[in-house]
This record gives sequence, structure tokens and C-alpha cells, in this order.
Amino acid sequence: MKKRILITGGAGFLGSHLCERLLNEDNEIFCLDNFYTGSNDNIRHLSGNPRFVLINHDIINPIYLDVDQIYNLACPASPVHYQYNPIKTIKTNVMGAINVLGIAKRTKATVLQASTSEVYGDPEVHPQSESYWGRVNPIGIRSCYDEGKRAAECLMMDYRRQNGVNSKIVRIFNTYGPRMAINDGRVVSNFIIQALRGSDITVYGDGSHTRSFCYVDDLVDGLIRMMNAPDNFYGPVNIGNPGEFTISELAQLIIKLTNSSSKIIFQPLPADDPAQRKPDITLAGAQLNWIPQVGLEQGLTATIQYFRHILQIPQGEEHRIK
Ligand code: NAD
Ligand code: UDP
Repeated sequence: MKKRILITGGAGFLGSHLCERLLNEDNEIFCLDNFYTGSNDNIRHLSGNPRFVLINHDIINPIYLDVDQIYNLACPASPVHYQYNPIKTIKTNVMGAINVLGIAKRTKATVLQASTSEVYGDPEVHPQSESYWGRVNPIGIRSCYDEGKRAAECLMMDYRRQNGVNSKIVRIFNTYGPRMAINDGRVVSNFIIQALRGSDITVYGDGSHTRSFCYVDDLVDGLIRMMNAPDNFYGPVNIGNPGEFTISELAQLIIKLTNSSSKIIFQPLPADDPAQRKPDITLAGAQLNWIPQVGLEQGLTATIQYFRHILQIPQGEEHRIK
């Protein structure tokens, strides 16, 4: 049945893919965004659809809407962006969660919180399962995001226990794909852009730290499965691809796939950068029958194609654009 669905952060990287998929499934979409890191370019192709409503709004302010489901994605996700205005980041996480929970409380909508693997901090447990409470620096440069997301999880659970709100929590691990912002500084977009331009590939630290990379289509599928799972399964649940790679391996793979002449250079590792990260997705498999389908090479190939198009670098011309 067609639903009225609010997606906060709907003009961002993940939000725009979610808007597109849910619109294609005949739902009515309310895409709310303040365009802090999102872009009209991500959603322009949806705006002609009468079931797509764009709301230019900052989620730190209350808003009154009548919806069936809410995906709460509003929050800058890349370290460069969330550290640019850390006070705004924590406000968005905490006040944004309170405001969407207010809507959910009034309308009895189900609300899904886009949480993060960052709630595990720099983990001593590997891979990370949902039962692990994490090791987060509460006063570091990443805390505006990590602690903001932890507070949002707390709010989801307290509104559930105190007010009977049907809240759900997904912990998203590093996700990549088309529509990542060119300037957001995340590792996949940085490396692809550097490789396509023939610039140096900037590995922070010695390149031995790891991440596990999930392709956007798999992630969106996991979010939708969680939203529509039986009410007695509310998470938190990890959604991510357990394939684990060192940052050096990622750099080498991107150089190979772009056929680039770029060289790898090493730069200082930012403070509190987690040394390793890999999701245990046993719970998502058992409860949501979810398992990622897209391998790293396949997902990177699609992402490289997107950036070639955006940067207007045709195949074979990488080396001329220095
Ligand atoms: P993104 O920066 O592309 O998207 C975030 C969107 O939220 C943007 O469109 C931005 O303009 C909007 N926004 C920010 N502050 C807002 C505010 N105060 N009011 C309204 N809109 C606001 O990032 P993304 O990768 O698409 O991430 C989406 C969500 O998923 C975020 O909550 C992020 O924390 C979470 N997440 C993403 C990843 C990942 O790897 N992509 C990993 C873990 C968690
Ligand atoms: N990183 C890197 N070079 C870059 C950007 C990031 O080596 O140009 C590293 C970063 O230090 C981290 C990993 O890649 O160890 C993932 O960084 P990203 O910003 O994508 O996300 P994070 O998982 O740290 O939130």
C-alpha cells in the first residue's frame, strides 16, 4: 500500500537514493533538507513527480507533518563536513532526533534512525556486533558526531519506552556510491577523484588501518527491510559489507580500476581515526534476510563511472588532466 514517507536529509548522498527507490515503489515522499551538504542535483530528476514533495527546512526546528514512516538521515556524514561546524552537528543529531520523534509520537509513524558504526568508536572488539558498547572519546574532534549519534540512539530508545514510539535503529558502516559529494573528503570519493585527475592519492597514516565498504544500493535495501520488519524487531542492527580492506589496498584497487598514473603519498592520520572497522551482520541476516550483493570492485566501477561523468573525464584521458 502506498505510504506517506518523510526522509530527512533526503537531498544527500544516501537520502537521494532512498527517495528515488521509495518513489519508484509508488509512495508519496516528503524530502526534507537544509542543503548543508546535500544538493539539488541529487534530486532534480525526482522533482517533476507529483508524489515528490521537497521541504527546505532545518531539522533542528520543529515541523508538523502527517506521515506513516520517517527515515531520519539529516546530518553531515563525512568527517570534514561534520567537523566544520561541530556544534551544529551535535544540535542536528540531538534536536533533529527530538523533532522527528515528536512527529512520530503525534502521528504514530514508524521512525528509523540512521545511526553509524562510529558509535563503536575505535573498537577493541573485531568485528563489531550490536552487543558491543563501543570505545568513543567523548571530548575529541569526532565526538560531535559520535556522541551526537549515541544520544540520538538513546532518544530513540527512551521515546520507545516512555511514549510507545515505534522507533528503529540501523548502524550504517562506510557506504559509497554515485552522488557522494565531490568535496566531502571521504576516502572513496577522494581516492577516485585524485586517481581520475592524476593527482597524488592521499593515504592518511601508514595505510594499514581498515574499513569495510558497502555499496549504496545494498544499504538502501537494508534500510527499507528494517523499516518494514515486524515491530518487535527494532535493533540496533548493523548494515554494512563485511569485506574488510586496508586503506592502502583500497588506493591500489582504485588506481587499477581507473588505470591511473597517480602515486600514493602518506599524510598524518587525523586524531581518533579508528584503526579497524568491520560489521558483524549476523543479526541483519537472521532478522531481515539481508546480505550485501555488490562486491567492492563492482561498486567502485559504478562509482568511478559516475565521477568520470561529473568531472567530465572520458575513459583514457586521465593522464592529460593534471
Ligand atoms: P550527506 O552529507 O550526503 O547527507 C546528509 C544530508 O542531511 C544532506 O543532504 C544535508 O544537507 C542534510 N542535513 C544536514 N544537516 C541538516 C539539518 N540540520 N536539517 C536538515 N537537513 C540536514 O551524508 P550521507 O552519507 O548521505 O549520510 C546520511 C545519513 O547516514 C547521515 O545521518 C549519516 O550520519 C548516516 N551514515 C552515513 C554513512 C555513510 O557511509 N554514508 C555511514 C554511517 C552513517
Ligand atoms: N582517509 C585517507 N585518505 C583520504 C581520506 C580518508 O587515508 O583522503 C582515511 C581516513 O583517515 C580513515 C579512512 O580513510 O582512516 C576512512 O575515512 P572516511 O573519511 O571515508 O570515513 P570514516 O570511516 O573515517 O568516518
